[in-house]
Amino acid sequence: MNKLDKIKLYCLDMDGTVYLENTLLDQALDTIAYLRKKAKIVFLTNNSSKSATSYIEKLHHLGIDITPDEIYTSGQATCEYLTQHYANKRVYLVGTKALEEEFISYNICLDDVHPDLVVLGYDTTLTYQKLVKLTTFLNEGKTYIATHPDINCPATPYYVPDIGSFISLIEKSTHRIPEIICGKPYTIMGETLMQRFHLNSDEIAMIGDRLSTDIAFANNNHFTSILVLSGETKITDYQNQNQVQADFVFDSIADLLNY
Ligand SMILES: [Mg+2]
Repeated sequence: MNKLDKIKLYCLDMDGTVYLENTLLDQALDTIAYLRKKAKIVFLTNNSSKSATSYIEKLHHLGIDITPDEIYTSGQATCEYLTQHYANKRVYLVGTKALEEEFISYNICLDDVHPDLVVLGYDTTLTYQKLVKLTTFLNEGKTYIATHPDINCPATPYYVPDIGSFISLIEKSTHRIPEIICGKPYTIMGETLMQRFHLNSDEIAMIGDRLSTDIAFANNNHFTSILVLSGETKITDYQNQNQVQADFVFDSIADLLNY
C-alpha cells in the first residue's frame, strides 16, 4: 500500500511550495483541488505576525479560496498550547496587533505589568520599549515561550530578520532562550494540529520546501514528509546533507498529480 493512501490531512507550506512571493506555482490550483478530493488540506505557516484572516485574504488574491479551518499559524498553535497548559495565566505578549487579537480570541489574558509568562511572536512592530519590558520579565525569571524559531523571513530583495534573530538578541542580553517554541519544526504545533483535526501522525503529510522547518517538522512529529524543490532547497542541498530525510522528493507539488 502506498504511504500516501492513508493520508487524511495534507499540510501545505506556502512560500516556495504553492507560490513564490506573489506568483502561484504551475498547476498549484489543480494540485490543491486534487488533494482536497483525497483528503483535507491545511496551509501551515510559522509566521505569527499575520492573522489567519490575512492569509485567507492573501491566498484569495492569488486565486486560492480557503475556509478558516484550512489555515493554521504558529500563533494559533501557541494559543492552543497556552489554553491547555497555562490556563488562566497572564501573558506579556510581544507581537503585532493581529497576534494580540488572535490571543484575545482564545480568551488569553494579556498583561504588560504583572504577567505570569512572556510570549515572543514575530513582531514587525517591535520597539525598544517592548524589548526592555520583555528582558525585564525574563530577568525576573518568568517562563519564556516563542511562537516559532525562523531566523529570517523571505522578502525582496533580501530576507529580513524574523523572530529567531530577536531570540539571539535577547539571549545576548539576558542569557535566556525560550523554554518552549511552538511552531515548525517542533512538536507542539504537531500535537495541536493532531488534536485540532482528530488525527494520528500516520494520517498526516507535510509538503514543504525547507528541510530545517517543513521536513524536520514532519519527521519530528512522525508525519509523512514531502519535500518540493520549487523553493529554498535545491536537489544538491538535499543530497549534500544527511540529517533530514524526506519520504518523497518532488520537483514541485504538481508532481503529486501524477504520483
Ligand atoms: Mg516555504
